[in-house]
Amino acid sequence: MRHYPVFLDTKQKKIVVSGAGEEAAAKLRLLVRTEAMIDVFGELPCEPVLAMARDGRIRLTERPVAEGDGDGATLFYCANDDEAEDARAAAIGRAAGALVNVVDDLDHSQFITPAIVDRDPVVVAIGTEGTAPVLARAIKADLEARLPVSLGLLARLARAFRPRATLIPQGPARRAFWSRYWSGAGERALSTGGEAAVANLLERLLTDTVERRPAAGRVSFVSAGPGDPDLMTLKARRILHEADVVLHDRLVPQAILDLARREALMVETGKKGHGPAMAQADINVLMADHAKDGAHVVRLKGGDAMVFGRLDEEIAALQADGIPFEIVPGVTSASAAAAAVGHSLTRRGRNSALTLLTAHDMAGFAAHDWQGLARPGATAAIYMARKGAVQIVAQLSTHGADPATPVTIVANASRPDQTIARASLATLVARLEAMDAQAPAIILYGIGTPAAASHAVASVLEEVAA
Ligand code: SAH
Repeated sequence: MRHYPVFLDTKQKKIVVSGAGEEAAAKLRLLVRTEAMIDVFGELPCEPVLAMARDGRIRLTERPVAEGDGDGATLFYCANDDEAEDARAAAIGRAAGALVNVVDDLDHSQFITPAIVDRDPVVVAIGTEGTAPVLARAIKADLEARLPVSLGLLARLARAFRPRATLIPQGPARRAFWSRYWSGAGERALSTGGEAAVANLLERLLTDTVERRPAAGRVSFVSAGPGDPDLMTLKARRILHEADVVLHDRLVPQAILDLARREALMVETGKKGHGPAMAQADINVLMADHAKDGAHVVRLKGGDAMVFGRLDEEIAALQADGIPFEIVPGVTSASAAAAAVGHSLTRRGRNSALTLLTAHDMAGFAAHDWQGLARPGATAAIYMARKGAVQIVAQLSTHGADPATPVTIVANASRPDQTIARASLATLVARLEAMDAQAPAIILYGIGTPAAASHAVASVLEEVAA
């Protein structure tokens, strides 16, 4: 490590910038966020630099930097976009005893400025010693997305509360207090009730900690999306990472489960192949029990948790026990499937309504508006396709749907093993049967290019309908 990272206190410090063009403006954008007094020297200042001077954020002298200008400066930037002028300026800076940085010139710089993620007072600095600026930018973009914008405010509120937190004895208890604040509680309070809610939360956590009350558990229903980890929301990722216990569907792939903390207890509620799936009632009890123990439970569901996920049954169970919960929405498999085939789920002039249906729920099977769905242009995303495909085709045919209606089947949408099969209403059942029976599959009815209906399949279909 040639460059040693430090955070410099800029309060009442002088920083000099030689140059007033675009290169200097780029440096100044960050410098003006500090508390330093900033002196800029340069002819023909560019508009951004003039604006900073007008706003009183810098002191601008419209001439080249001269001997003595660097006196008392802590940092001295040479940003003239001109090698000879930078060299002359660097000599002035060094003579004044300041640390000198020549923009984009590692060898003549005594320090370099890292890429930063600014959530003031929380600042992350990223340095690659000049070897990989592109990598630094990628890391920065990643952190920008991951760190909530509210982090700075949360840190300032925490700072204001520090004197009160000394009521908790220093050591594990005080650390536990702050880790509850930082592991999601503070952010949730801020997003639901603003600064007042954060103040309430801090007081409540303080009382809980001083009186040694156990933490109250809760449940987050988190949508895992159709399978591709990139199709999860940032919120889903963050909450999954905070969970003490994760109860997940079998549809959720390992790459997403890996986003949970290593210490988290992982429970699969739907077993594939061998062993029966857990009964819904057992899942409800398990979820509530963990929350009553004070755990943050994440109930992780494939696609969007609110689509065919029996979410309301689980919510009702929690409400019966008075356990707080939240819901994080996500990308449903119908969206992922439509994206995979490059079609929109709605289209002007074709369908202004979209039906999400499943034939799995046999009690409600007859209640679908088959007549409406049989009309030309009708569109539906059919979940849990295999279970009821035969009956669905029979119903649609009985209600007069055109056997040539295009149908697209998408299995494992958004996953590496995604497969797309194009068919028509007439060939749908045969197509489905030819596909891997284990893979989750969804039918986009009324979407796609019709495949020629073979007579053989059409006659099979008639038998089924009979
Ligand atoms: N909540 C989920 C649906 C749960 S029901 C969602 O919003 O997507 C389970 C059904 O969803 C499966 O039988 C299948 O029809 C569909 N499904 C889930 N993930 C899928 C995927 N990656 N590709 C295709 N269909 C999928």
